[in-house]
Amino acid sequence: MLYLDNSATTKVAPEALDAMLPYLQEEYGNPASKYYTLAENSKNAVKQARNQVAAIVGCDPDEVIFTSGATESNNMVLKGIADYYENQNQTIITTKTEHPSIIDTCEYLESKGFHIIYLDVDKFGRVNPNKVKEAIENYHPLLVSIIWGNNELGSLNDIEKIAHYCAINNVFFHTDATQVIGKIHVDISEHPGIRFLSLSSHKIHGPKGIGACIIRKENETLQTKITPLIHGGGQEFEYRSGTLAVHNIVGFGKAAELAHLNLSTTKEHLEQLEKSLTDILINQFKDKISFNNDQQFKIPGLLSLQFKGVNNELLLKKLSNHMALSTGSACSSGKPSHVLSAAGFTQNEIQQTVRISMSKYINVDDLDFFKSLK
Ligand code: PMP
Repeated sequence: MLYLDNSATTKVAPEALDAMLPYLQEEYGNPASKYYTLAENSKNAVKQARNQVAAIVGCDPDEVIFTSGATESNNMVLKGIADYYENQNQTIITTKTEHPSIIDTCEYLESKGFHIIYLDVDKFGRVNPNKVKEAIENYHPLLVSIIWGNNELGSLNDIEKIAHYCAINNVFFHTDATQVIGKIHVDISEHPGIRFLSLSSHKIHGPKGIGACIIRKENETLQTKITPLIHGGGQEFEYRSGTLAVHNIVGFGKAAELAHLNLSTTKEHLEQLEKSLTDILINQFKDKISFNNDQQFKIPGLLSLQFKGVNNELLLKKLSNHMALSTGSACSSGKPSHVLSAAGFTQNEIQQTVRISMSKYINVDDLDFFKSLK
């Protein structure tokens, strides 16, 4: 079975699994307990993982808040900021091609009286940074939240420019970097405008149910304050209470370490796979296919394409014994893609669309299967 749905989730790296096992067996101490070795061992393991996650995004370890995943991180930032600053500013700027964990949270905030501006996107689902600048100048928002790399079309937003516009206007900027970590260069120390960033372990060959929200420390001009979503024992610097899932955190840390260490080889490998697959598909299907994604400025290894006149769900079912593909995002299955609609695709084009997302565990030879398709 050829697994080509790595944007939905990834296989756990054997190294991450090995690192986790002791914390599901003999090392079961609570890292918040004191004075005995079991607790100290867990505490040290969490500390190491925090360093590993910090290194892959370029922040300080004490800016890493472990959460249950990017959905929670996105909720945490939007609802947390909205709650804390409710009496000062109620405007948030985002785009029409965000993940449902942003869009649905924005709709919830709208129902509470917040003013949300959903910016239009181009045919690749990407927002024009000048439109973000204009909107910031016109609406003076509290927060701008824009996805770094889109999970359906793979397009990268110009985060450098957007972060700069937010910084010079003293506006909080959050980016959902879930799909880009481990695939492109990410170093938020280069973008002081980024105040918050979301990431998830299971997209980088770590376990599910764990992720992080990066909350940059305050600077002279911007105080970073959010109300926690989860109150309780005050873990995670008071931002997220609850006993830490040490085994998951350790697995996430190991996956982040590997992703960071192997970034350039992974990126090259994914680019090579993408090129080979594109060539095979063009050769095999000629004008019976068309690509939705941009060729440049994209997440390597992710393709979005249409098989003309073929219903995507029927195609996926037909191929399901041989390969795992997707019609788009696994998080909005059942609903027509809001991302493709916002990018201007017709209903018919959306129903022909298939997403192929590859990983470092796939070899070029594995793609030969596509040569037998008609
Ligand atoms: N944001 C993006 C861009 C995603 O692709 C996903 C996962 N599909 C999420 C957020 C949610 O991540 P998690 O599964 O860790 O909650």
